[in-house]
Amino acid sequence: AEEIIRKADKLAVVGQLAAGVAHEIRNPLTALKGFVQLMTEGGNNAGYCEIMLSELNRINRIIDELLLAARPSKPVFERHNVVDLVQDVLSLISTQCVMKNIAVLPSIHTWVPSIRCDSNQLKQVFLNILKNAMEAVPEGGQIEVCVGRVEASDEVYVRITDNGFGIDETVLPKLGEPFYTSKETGTGLGLMVSYRIVQSHGGRMKISSQLGRGTTVDIRLPMEAPVPHHTSYLVKQG
Ligand code: ADP
Ligand code: MG
Repeated sequence: AEEIIRKADKLAVVGQLAAGVAHEIRNPLTALKGFVQLMTEGGNNAGYCEIMLSELNRINRIIDELLLAARPSKPVFERHNVVDLVQDVLSLISTQCVMKNIAVLPSIHTWVPSIRCDSNQLKQVFLNILKNAMEAVPEGGQIEVCVGRVEASDEVYVRITDNGFGIDETVLPKLGEPFYTSKETGTGLGLMVSYRIVQSHGGRMKISSQLGRGTTVDIRLPMEAPVPHHTSYLVKQG
């Protein structure tokens, strides 16, 4: 019975996502259709092409992120130290931070226990959160990255704080919903994928924010992750 419920649950989530995907892709497609129509009637074709290209790029970004999330790779759970994973991602973004004059301030405890996790998936989470922070801060902004062990608990934490534009209170509950984005070129999939990955590790992710002041994303991961039994992050875990 549990298996049946889980399947029904998965179908519901897949249906919800399919409706979202269809909607997100129909908007740029409708725009494209309109411009093709205009072009057949002559007029400023160069201007139309520019808009059409940006609409096509939007469809491409959505498909890219969906494929990344749906990729049916089996998660590989092994022992890793989150400090190493965080440091890998920090070096990945360091050039971009220098170019945007963003100060990255790591505050990493010297002794952090290793945890059972899929290293690529967790790196994806840290990258998604750090990218959001980089997109939220102004020139000269700062991002603090803390890693440590939660006191008196078998958990480690990764806390990423930025002093960017923050998130309105009314928007906070929408975070993690597929396709919620406030950005012109956003997809609104980064947080959804991140929540799913953290959940599949038996962990939690909490976002707190103050408009105009900044945002903190707090991730907690147990040292022993539960055994995974699913293959795709587009499917809700049962
Ligand atoms: P995307 O980055 O493509 O918009 P995400 O799922 O990564 O999608 O984020 C969804 C939304 O959450 C963003 O569009 C933004 O409004 C809000 N958000 C996430 N992180 C931050 C942050 N650090 N500061 C301000 N807003 C944020
Ligand atoms: Mg993002």
